[in-house]
Amino acid sequence: MSIPQYKICFDIGRGTSRLVEIPTLLMTHGHLDHSSGIPYHVSQRNLRRLPTTQLYVPPELEPPLRKILHLWSEIEDYEIQFDLHPVDYDRTYPLSGNLHFQAVRSVHRVPSNGYTILEKVRKLRDEYKSLPGPEIARLKNIRDDMFYDSVVPHVTFSGDTQIEFVLENEIVRRSKVLFLECTFICDERPVERARQWGHIHLDEIVANAEAFRDVERLFLIHFSPRYRKDRIHSILKKKLPDWLHAKTVPFLT
Ligand SMILES: [Zn+2]
Ligand SMILES: [Zn+2]
Repeated sequence: MSIPQYKICFDIGRGTSRLVEIPTLLMTHGHLDHSSGIPYHVSQRNLRRLPTTQLYVPPELEPPLRKILHLWSEIEDYEIQFDLHPVDYDRTYPLSGNLHFQAVRSVHRVPSNGYTILEKVRKLRDEYKSLPGPEIARLKNIRDDMFYDSVVPHVTFSGDTQIEFVLENEIVRRSKVLFLECTFICDERPVERARQWGHIHLDEIVANAEAFRDVERLFLIHFSPRYRKDRIHSILKKKLPDWLHAKTVPFLT
């Protein structure tokens, strides 16, 4: 899924010429439905003489992916250029202005992580908030403890994960917009089955609804192909509490 204004794409799926303009791929994990388009994307950008693709991946994915891209260079008889970055979970990466992204480790059957787009802001401490503007301006010149650095998470993309990605990461729960995988929704495929495959079941979102209080818009993605669109809509309406259903959008393609 691409966010053109940030020039990034979360995963690349099977690859498509429509996305070749996007220079930065934030990869969540190596399963083929998320990553098989990497060689095509990287190679197409080379051929079109676009800047080298910046690939961010879970650290364990770096060595095998490097091998694949080198092998594909051999196949194409052309040295494919790419910049491959194993993510560091303890840092943020600049996007533009005050915007940065951060990788957040997730729980899946293979090494995986989601990504959060965040804004770094300086905030006035509560004890100074009631002061008039000119007084704040005067004090600013003589005190250096009036402001603190804060992070505003705007968008989080989960990739494939179990519900722990939400429950164990405050930055995910505070995100204004959350793209969250929800592979299973029906009773025939219960929660245990979803967890066995490293996925989320809708029943777990319902059971942990309070974790989504601060999220302003919840996009559910990655539904199992066995579900028809109208069934997804009706099950979401039936199972989600009204307040959560009102801000939930199934992302159907
Ligand atoms: Zn997967
Ligand atoms: Zn998947």
